Amino acid sequence: MGLRKILTDKEPALHKVCKPVTAFDAKLHKLLDDMAETLLDSGGVGLAAPQVGILRRVVLVDVGGEEPEILELINPELLETSGEQYGPEGCLSVPGKYGLVKRPNYAKVRAQDRDGNWFEAEGEELIARCFCHELDHLDGIIYTQVMDRFLTEDEM
Ligand SMILES: [Zn+2]
Repeated sequence: MGLRKILTDKEPALHKVCKPVTAFDAKLHKLLDDMAETLLDSGGVGLAAPQVGILRRVVLVDVGGEEPEILELINPELLETSGEQYGPEGCLSVPGKYGLVKRPNYAKVRAQDRDGNWFEAEGEELIARCFCHELDHLDGIIYTQVMDRFLTEDEM
């Protein structure tokens, strides 16, 4: 286990399209364990591999309530979305800022687990927002590219 450094959106890694994971091996498991530790340490809701400098299609989302419950999504694809939500969104790679972003209110994804087995996961509200935000990272998209505007200091 080990904490990884979270890159900011100034780094080129955050703006690249990530490659699929093809090897479900010890190296992937170490990455997932390190990312989970990094996410829990950060207090964030989600973390994508490019945020720690790894250009692979790996995302973690904390789907828990009061207790963290880390969902590992490898090679995730958006299967279905519905509804709409509009509100503030932040990113560990854009520290100290929040922007207003429109997202679907419901999202269903398909992904592989750490052993390569496909499964589906779904969520509403914050989880749906997080799925969309994190999957965008895998295509080099930061929320600041799809937001309306940053929140002002008064609004924060
Ligand atoms: Zn982010």
